[in-house]
Amino acid sequence: RAKDAGRGTWRLFDPAMDRQLQDRRGLQRDIKSALREDQLFVEFQPVVALSTRSIVGLEALVRWEHPDRGIIPPGEFIEIAERSGLIGAITAFVLAESAALAAQLPGFMAIAVNLSPLHLREAWLVDQVSEIIQQAGVAPERIEFEVTETAVLETEGRTIDNLHRLRALGCRIAIDDFGTGYSSLATLSRFPFDRLKIDRSFINDLEHNAADAPIVKAMIDLSQTMGLRVTAEGVETERQAAILTLYQCNDIQGFLYSPPVRKAQVLQLFESGRTVTGLGVGCVETVS
Ligand code: C2E
Ligand code: MG
Ligand code: MG
Ligand code: MG
Repeated sequence: RAKDAGRGTWRLFDPAMDRQLQDRRGLQRDIKSALREDQLFVEFQPVVALSTRSIVGLEALVRWEHPDRGIIPPGEFIEIAERSGLIGAITAFVLAESAALAAQLPGFMAIAVNLSPLHLREAWLVDQVSEIIQQAGVAPERIEFEVTETAVLETEGRTIDNLHRLRALGCRIAIDDFGTGYSSLATLSRFPFDRLKIDRSFINDLEHNAADAPIVKAMIDLSQTMGLRVTAEGVETERQAAILTLYQCNDIQGFLYSPPVRKAQVLQLFESGRTVTGLGVGCVETVS
């Protein structure tokens, strides 16, 4: 988040940094074959409604199973994919996996897919999305796209245009990691958002930093006044969930309920109709 920026220091030569640079070059070379060789896979993290304490959606999160390096998180390769011109293909893959899973789940379940700002600027984005969703045979309402503040603030006409076209198609739009950039809640009213996701740095501070609690409450209140649903990201403790319930936040996502899991585990959860626990006493809810 902005207030943490600038704490890095640097030296003229740093062997660790040199190694990092070489690692990046290696990844840049390897990512070209990652898709072709089926090394990418998607995990899905449940989103839970606080009112019912049951799953209302999932967020798709991509991972790379590198043959030598093991599983690499998206934070380490999305930027490389963007610079290599592969982000469109990767998103198409994530979207196709998400739409296929949506087709197997109850109709109320929406799946969220993260969109890179670079991809959001492409003229062909909406046609590509439309085709993938149609092929999977799911209603566009079942897919939600997550975009970050910086993606929409550095706005060219095309970005806004694409957001409106995705919305016209029937897909939902969420603003992700809210609070990490410089946009105000007022700027949000200019964009066609359905949901706001509060960045986990605020949720993390909720218990320890007294100053953050009123900020979170204001974000929730104003978003809801503007007709947006609110998801709190990175909810890890019962206490955070309790505070968010008090503030009437709509949904939560985080390790408290579940980490991102593979498709088979998501299906198991629904097929077994098993009860969902993990939100403490009195919070047990039946799924389906
Ligand atoms: P994000 O969209 O904000 O996703 C949430 C991240 O927080 C995920 O990290 C998730 O595993 C992590 N997380 C969830 N709950 C908790 C919690 O309780 N505590 C903590 N500490 N972390 C939690 P992940 O999977 O490493 O993804 C990082 C970022 O990479 C994502 O942030 C998103 O911006 C990007 N990303 C992931 N998949 C894709 C993709 O398919 N396309 C694009 N363009 N970006 C992606
Ligand atoms: Mg996201
Ligand atoms: Mg996020
Ligand atoms: Mg994030």
